[in-house]
Amino acid sequence: MSNEQKKISRREFMASTSKTAAGIAAATALTSCAAPTARGLVIDGHMHFEAYGTYWEGLIDEIIEHYDYAGVDKGVVFTTWTPSRESNDRTLEGYQKYPDRFIPFGHVRTEDPDWESELKRISELQWKGIKLHQTEISRGPDLKEKTRTVVEKAAEFGIRIVLIHLEDIEIMDELTREIAEVTWIIPHMGYDKKRGEMKKYCELARDRKNVYLDTSIGQYYKYGQAIEWAGADKIIFASDGFWGNPFIEKTKIEILQLPTPFRTPRLTDEQLDMILGGNLARILEL
Ligand SMILES: [Zn+2]
Repeated sequence: MSNEQKKISRREFMASTSKTAAGIAAATALTSCAAPTARGLVIDGHMHFEAYGTYWEGLIDEIIEHYDYAGVDKGVVFTTWTPSRESNDRTLEGYQKYPDRFIPFGHVRTEDPDWESELKRISELQWKGIKLHQTEISRGPDLKEKTRTVVEKAAEFGIRIVLIHLEDIEIMDELTREIAEVTWIIPHMGYDKKRGEMKKYCELARDRKNVYLDTSIGQYYKYGQAIEWAGADKIIFASDGFWGNPFIEKTKIEILQLPTPFRTPRLTDEQLDMILGGNLARILEL
């Protein structure tokens, strides 16, 4: 079965499992809207091999089941809430089981004495990126400098993509400018804890070639506006699974091809294609 055929059969499967009239109507609309994305890969930019630090036997197979249901071809995967070595071992194991479905990213915590050698191992495995979280870098005032140290060390080893949860726009502005050889992906469409802050993240992505935003667990009602601010070429579909759900997160984007109560323009087929996988495929050089 070709890839094209597989995608069509997934959509048919989804349409056939929608039981209610509303479900059928939505599935029909999505089928016709989603058709152009069959041209490109659908890639989830953010998938954990854990659910908030909890892992169980079979979790990785369950992710594949969700990817098949949602029509997701590939996912950027990592483990984060465990020590550096243990995280990367689990990611490696999952990747080895499903090498065609997963794109592995490494993970380090600065509190682990082996974080530098883990970065080296990640580069030797030829993984293209790492996932970092601010609370695992530093909870103190040295967050910026410690982040800089880790990212510069990663870049030294040839790791050039950093997916980073860091809720400080000033730090992100400075580091993305100063470490320009790295592609920075900021999850959750940026952060909006202070009024108007999300717009700043969107503008950072718009203005800086090496900055992107992922959509995971974002507030759906702000997506249309955020995409307008940042530009569809700077937005990456992501689920933040296995806590976040690939089908739900993907639908939150696809539905923007229909009229919205927020009066933002409908996403074009081309924009949808870029967000669901085109942008990330380009970054990952797939
Ligand atoms: Zn996450």
